[in-house]
Amino acid sequence: MPLVDDGSRDFWRGGADGRLLIRACAACHRLFHPPGPVCPHCYSRSVTSRAVSGRATVASYTVTHRGWVPGYEPPYVVARVVLAEQPDLHLLTNVVGCDPEAVHTGMEVEVIFEQRTDVFVPLFQPVA
Ligand SMILES: [Zn+2]
Repeated sequence: MPLVDDGSRDFWRGGADGRLLIRACAACHRLFHPPGPVCPHCYSRSVTSRAVSGRATVASYTVTHRGWVPGYEPPYVVARVVLAEQPDLHLLTNVVGCDPEAVHTGMEVEVIFEQRTDVFVPLFQPVA
């Protein structure tokens, strides 16, 4: 289970409303991830959360054939995706909803949320 604190609560709970909430800096207006209390670009502490589109592109991925993570049946896809809003906004996630062999670099995906107890884990599926 992810650690939910003040900085990351929006990220893990936004899925309850179907929203992917990413930390946004009020000083330099950039988005950043993973969530935290300080902007990694300008070190401002004036950070809030902003709902993004949930659209992303697969930047890299690996197909995992062993069950490393409880609750995931192998094979599954661990992917680094780039959110549509900002080219350096990466998320490490899983691509679901398709054959793992069909995943490729540059694939367009969109967020879905998987509830696990009280957190909503953002996963990505191919854009229909
Ligand atoms: Zn900033």
